[in-house]
Amino acid sequence: MASIHSYDFNGKKALIRVDFNVPLDKETFQVTDDTRIRAAAPTILHVLKNGGSVVIMSHLGRPKDGADDRYSLKHIVDHTAKVLGVPVQFVNDCIGENALEKSKNLKSGEVLLLENVRFYKQETAGTESFAEALSLHGDCYINDAFGTAHRAHASTTVVAKFFPNDKMFGFLIENEIKSVDKVLNSTEKPLTAIVGGAKVSSKITIIEQLLQKVDHLIVGGGMAYTFIKAKGGQVGNSLVEDDYLDMARKIMDEAKAKGVNLYLPVDTIIADQFDNNANRKEVAIEAIPAGWMGLDTGSQTSKDCAEIIEKSKLILWNGPMGVFEMDNFQQGTIDVANAIVKATANGAFSLIGGGDSVAAINKYNLADQVSYVSTGGGAMLEYLEGIELPGIKAINE
Ligand code: AMP
Repeated sequence: MASIHSYDFNGKKALIRVDFNVPLDKETFQVTDDTRIRAAAPTILHVLKNGGSVVIMSHLGRPKDGADDRYSLKHIVDHTAKVLGVPVQFVNDCIGENALEKSKNLKSGEVLLLENVRFYKQETAGTESFAEALSLHGDCYINDAFGTAHRAHASTTVVAKFFPNDKMFGFLIENEIKSVDKVLNSTEKPLTAIVGGAKVSSKITIIEQLLQKVDHLIVGGGMAYTFIKAKGGQVGNSLVEDDYLDMARKIMDEAKAKGVNLYLPVDTIIADQFDNNANRKEVAIEAIPAGWMGLDTGSQTSKDCAEIIEKSKLILWNGPMGVFEMDNFQQGTIDVANAIVKATANGAFSLIGGGDSVAAINKYNLADQVSYVSTGGGAMLEYLEGIELPGIKAINE
């Protein structure tokens, strides 16, 4: 494995897998959110600055059956050029003579964007001959697509084997890995994880992993009601996974045995319907009347959580405290976000990892006031679950 920091790119062609799977306007095909393009820019510009040329490969959307104009990367060429501040060439294939001709003729400082790798079904199948055909574009391979690092696809994983001494991570993946490792493997204390979201079942492996590491584990969101019911509370119509009551008890026992402070909400905002305009009241979480459901955490819970979070040195947040998409049920999530911001200002390291907590921190415009916001939803979750991601393994091997 090489390192992007010390690799000599002078006169070399770098084949870079990025995640340019950006949202496009349905009519104009203009890029509506360029976060992912901006996130990959430092790696691309680093190669150019050091005398190399760049061949970019990515997927866009989920084309079903071969080439599909709606998912062509031609739509993002101009936007990419604008973000990078250099011209970007495009070729309407990712393998084959025509594409190779283009990449062969690249000069130092030039950038070529290949067509969507998922126009070939061999991409997601991880077909070796297809990966080899892709590999012909570069003297070295850089993986900077964290969002797809959990997939053993041709361009994210298999292609790496054709660059035994010339494969490396880009800055984006490197930062993602560093941030999680900092939270999970640092000796600083206290370490607090806040896990919210809809279901216990989808977070169970993460919770099990975190129990081995954290000092405080705050459980919020819809999954809290399964724990409260498991403790004998009345949860009314709240979201509950009855199949997971035993599992919830097991987790509570394990936390106790390990000396982990498993914090469950003490109060909740209940609603008489799953609707932003439903009737609301705040009640003790174990005393939800029949016909009502808990959609957010209550004010005492916010105070307790803030106290734990603000004393923490390392913080990991995954999943909202309530149905934050509805403005009347977002206060618990806002309060947690603000407590994390405050802790960060006081020197804590905070990682917002995975899916909806990332959406929440962006909704409240607080992304620049936490230490790191992960870009890789599913990949980040699998990384937190302790799974060795194929895209990362392929570079490390
Ligand atoms: P996840 O993708 O598992 O992190 O779950 C995020 C989703 O959980 C969000 O869409 C929230 O609206 C939802 N959620 C959070 N709290 C609750 C709750 N108390 N009842 C129902 N859904 C919830």
